[in-house]
Amino acid sequence: MSIDKIVSLCKRRGFIFQSSEIYGGFRAVYDYGPLGITLKNNISQLWWRNMTQLHENIVGIDSGILMHPKIWEASGHVGAFNDPLVDCKECKSRFRSDELIDNDTDKINWLEVQCPKCGNTGKLTEPRQFNLMFKTNIGAVEDESNIAFLRPETAQGIYVNYLLVQNAMRLKIPFGIAQIGKAFRNEIVARNFIFRTREFEQMEMQYFVKPGNDDDALNAWKKERMIFYEELGINSSKLRFHQHGDSELAHYAKEAWDIEFEFPFGWSEIEGIHNRTDYDLAKHEEFSGKKMEIFDQEKNERFLPYIIETSAGLNRILLAVLSHSYWEDKENNRIVMKLHPKIAPITTVVCPLLKKDGLPEIGHKVVEILKPHFNTIYDQQGSIGKRYYRQDEAGTPFCITIDHQTSDDNSVTLRHRDTQKQDRIPIEQLIKTINDNMENFNE
Ligand code: ATP
Repeated sequence: MSIDKIVSLCKRRGFIFQSSEIYGGFRAVYDYGPLGITLKNNISQLWWRNMTQLHENIVGIDSGILMHPKIWEASGHVGAFNDPLVDCKECKSRFRSDELIDNDTDKINWLEVQCPKCGNTGKLTEPRQFNLMFKTNIGAVEDESNIAFLRPETAQGIYVNYLLVQNAMRLKIPFGIAQIGKAFRNEIVARNFIFRTREFEQMEMQYFVKPGNDDDALNAWKKERMIFYEELGINSSKLRFHQHGDSELAHYAKEAWDIEFEFPFGWSEIEGIHNRTDYDLAKHEEFSGKKMEIFDQEKNERFLPYIIETSAGLNRILLAVLSHSYWEDKENNRIVMKLHPKIAPITTVVCPLLKKDGLPEIGHKVVEILKPHFNTIYDQQGSIGKRYYRQDEAGTPFCITIDHQTSDDNSVTLRHRDTQKQDRIPIEQLIKTINDNMENFNE
């Protein structure tokens, strides 16, 4: 299945639009429409709940996008946050060298590699480093003294605040700090819709442990993070781990794993789980001159914790969910987004069969009953079949139809998106029935 089908459904149904479309678009930036933002919020809320509500020792923060520029020197991003790029001298295209070649890119004779765009051989340059951070200036004057960076990851905002958080919340090691927020990278090769964009959202949880307990913590988080994706309705056969080899390992990492999803364009990373050791805290100690050690009262000792990071891309997860859910039901000539009802942007739609005989009035009453419990809309436009198909594409799991029998006995039909099965049930049992169906939803 091609990603283009998802792109066009996303536009048609109001999930995702190309940024600045009336100006011809703005590359690698996307805007989220009414269904897209709700789906994105539903995913991030589930993550936030999983992290902070279900773990007594994990708390949340929200740090600034702009931070002291020294943070990025300390973290190594000013010096080492680079992508190696090769240019094609013929067609002027640019590529990330590690994306052109599977093997160790150092050993490659680039003159023997074919340009994937124009097909010429002998035209690619040797790789050159390119820094991915967006720079800006703070205040009125634009010079070197007031440079600031848009954060390329949310993690550093957690590290520089971790002692304040630990003190304020009286946390004992091991503990975690979670954050959801925007990150920015001047990606050269931005492609595959919202998979790689220049502005994106990360959901990161940094887990602080005693050195020596880091390997166990990493293994535990690897297990737990996989369960999260299954909760989102993603089948485990579409997920796998990929361990970073020596040439891939980031400068700060002792061990690193990606969770990969099988996208229509192949297996690709949606989340990284890294053992960052005490690298970042030691660097901040060095660059800020402030002690970053934690004090263990029981043992009366000070130490720099090790950090296990789980770093997930919200937009990539959203794309994984959309790709996973997209289903062409050829038998019934319809397209269905088989979203898990827990995250579907609209849970219930109420449809009067006709626009007369008092059916719309009953429909509005049913909307009022359901609204406090579920994201509910009212739809009376077009034939009932067309309305159902519209909601199938939007991923709405339940359609409620009001017909003449409703006026007689207060019963409605409840249509299930994936099977198209319809049950006749009394209005007063709707909330319970929908809740039961959501709880027991199986693909
Ligand atoms: P990649 O190798 O694909 O560029 P990365 O290894 O640089 O990713 P990390 O720095 O580990 O990614 O970031 C953690 C997560 O943030 C990734 O797993 C991904 O989900 C998300 N992410 C990173 N870069 C982007 C981007 N440009 N657009 C969307 N999401 C991104």
